[in-house]
This record gives sequence, C-alpha cells and structure tokens, in this order.
Amino acid sequence: MTTFYEPTASEFGHLRRCVDLAREALDDGDEPFGSILVDAEGTVRFEDRNRVKHGDQTRHPEFEIARWSATNFTAEERASSTVFTSGEHCPMCAAAHAWMGLGRIVYAGSSAQLVQWGSERGAAPAPVAALPITTVAPALEVAGPVAAFAEELRELHFDRGRG
Ligand code: ZN
Repeated sequence: MTTFYEPTASEFGHLRRCVDLAREALDDGDEPFGSILVDAEGTVRFEDRNRVKHGDQTRHPEFEIARWSATNFTAEERASSTVFTSGEHCPMCAAAHAWMGLGRIVYAGSSAQLVQWGSERGAAPAPVAALPITTVAPALEVAGPVAAFAEELRELHFDRGRG
C-alpha cells in the first residue's frame, strides 16, 4: 500500500502549480511533469515543465532547476530551498539535485505510482530504473506522494499514453 503524505496548505498550493505545469506540458506535446523552486522565504524563484518533444530527453524540469540554481543561488540559498514537483525525481534529476546541494523535495506522485500507471496502460518500460530519490541520494529529505493528486496524475499519464 502507498503511504501518503499530508501537505500543509502552502505545500498543497505549490504542488497544485506543479500539476498545472504538467498539464501545460502535455497540452504542448511534452510529457506531463512540472516543478518549481521555492526559497526559504516561501517565494517561487523558478519554475519549468518537461520539454522533451524536440528530442533532448534530458529536458526534465528538476534538472533545469538544478542547473538554474548553479548560477542564481548561493550554496546557502540552495540548501534552504524546497523543490516541489508533480512527479518524484528520476535518478538523473535526483543526482543533479543532490550534487547541487538543493534542499527538501515534495512530490505529488511517486515513481512507484508512475510505474504502476505505466503498466496499467501497457507502456514500454522506461530506459532508466524508477529508483526512489532516497536510493539515489540517501541524505535528501523528501515528502510524498499526496493522495489528493493521485487520480488527476493517473489521468494525465493515461492521456500521455493515448498520445
Ligand atoms: Zn528527471
């Protein structure tokens, strides 16, 4: 059974924005993932969504956040920031996040859920193992998935399957 995380009201609002970005990505022909970077004061400093449709399969929003933080945040700002994301970081993005010393991660849907939904729709397995963030980067503080988004995310990922 999935153990769900109960977000605070402000966390819920940030996750809501991530899922909206995921829908925007899907509507634009990309994959349904969106993420935002929030500083220690609670201000959204950067947001992005998946942009893989032109062929660069590394254009994940969490990876863009890690790279953006390299030139726009100090080490202290990175450590005290929180990354909110519609889907749990893949191993590439978890590694980038950890290498940059970014702070806590809150995700709406887990990689395990994504694998489950993919198998339900008969999708081909991803080329990268769906490892949990904390398997890739054990010191990171993570929270998720959030029950309130499960059905919406499941539908978004089914729409992705229908192309
Ligand atoms: Zn990724």
